[in-house]
Amino acid sequence: MPTEDPQTHRLGVLLGDGIGPEIVPAAVEVLDAAVAAAGAKPIDWVPLPVGAAAIESHGDALPPAALETLEELDGWLLGPHDSASYPPEHRARLNPSGLLRKHFELFANIRPAKAFEGVEAMTPGIDLVIVRENTEGFYADRSTYRGTGEFMPTADVAIAMGIFTRPAIERIAREAFELARGRSRHLTVVHKANVLRTTTGFFLDICREIGAEYPDVELDDFHIDAMTAHLVRRAASFDVIVTENMFGDILSDLAGELAGSLGIAGSLNASRTRAMAQAAHGSAPDIAGQNLANPTAIIRSGAMLLSWLGARYADPALHRAAALVEAALATTIRSGIRTPDLGGTAGTSDFAAAVAAAATAGR
Ligand code: ATP
Repeated sequence: MPTEDPQTHRLGVLLGDGIGPEIVPAAVEVLDAAVAAAGAKPIDWVPLPVGAAAIESHGDALPPAALETLEELDGWLLGPHDSASYPPEHRARLNPSGLLRKHFELFANIRPAKAFEGVEAMTPGIDLVIVRENTEGFYADRSTYRGTGEFMPTADVAIAMGIFTRPAIERIAREAFELARGRSRHLTVVHKANVLRTTTGFFLDICREIGAEYPDVELDDFHIDAMTAHLVRRAASFDVIVTENMFGDILSDLAGELAGSLGIAGSLNASRTRAMAQAAHGSAPDIAGQNLANPTAIIRSGAMLLSWLGARYADPALHRAAALVEAALATTIRSGIRTPDLGGTAGTSDFAAAVAAAATAGR
């Protein structure tokens, strides 16, 4: 069980594959600057092996010793992994982030979609958060204690199952209502209750039940198919969206793209006691090692981790640090210092240095 250190916040840092060793240190640099500028306790970063480098050094993409150390921490930054490139025996296992989500039961995947001023976005006014149930639903790999939940009874028949349980739906619904309460008090449930009545209809019913505890939050709901059209047409009229695992996966990529690019979309995988910051994008092997990657997504994810930690320990300085990170990103991007994916010429390290300087200056 993590215990609070009076001097520092201890957080893990796992670089991952592809662009991970470039973007994760960039995030550390920015978060350290923001934490210092906000007057929060400094972060004691605990480096841990993961991914291809961990296979090389420990024969395991997520070594048991790393998992044991994570048990002692409140949270960590996880770089992207390129599990498709691992040797076949490692590819057969759940990938490192899947293992971590499962091991620590990180049941809420929180994915904001917010455009930056000056960055071309399909939906410039978009500022919403998708709260995706992260442990069950229609994703087979997350639904069972052992085995994947997908099977082929004959060579011509493939079956996948989904699992929906009351406790998991209640906890994700509460998470979403709490978040909505801190924002504009508007929550949208996404489901497919006209066809998948027993499963997603159950999800909707329970969200409505929990809604009785939050009379101050306006609740509405849409079918997943209609919701994709509504998001494209009028994303700015949504605020917090809660949905099951697979619908959330699809909707959050759509929302990320509407906000500008996947390179700016952060995410947090959280339980009540632990949180894992992870960019929404992959390891981008095509640009790895060239100082071209945009670290914005993992920096934003890191800011979400600071906020989560701030809520856990009722520490306003950490909330201030998170706000400084978001403001510094916006200032830097608005000033034209951008990585090539956003039309600029800045390298990963120069961009990070500019964001860190803006955070230090409180800009
Ligand atoms: P995965 O299956 O791990 O999601 P993928 O190849 O489908 O991997 P990404 O690794 O996210 O997806 O890459 C998709 C494209 O987006 C690539 O061309 C990549 O270079 C680009 N990309 C992804 N992340 C970034 C980033 N942070 N900065 C710049 N470009 C990026």
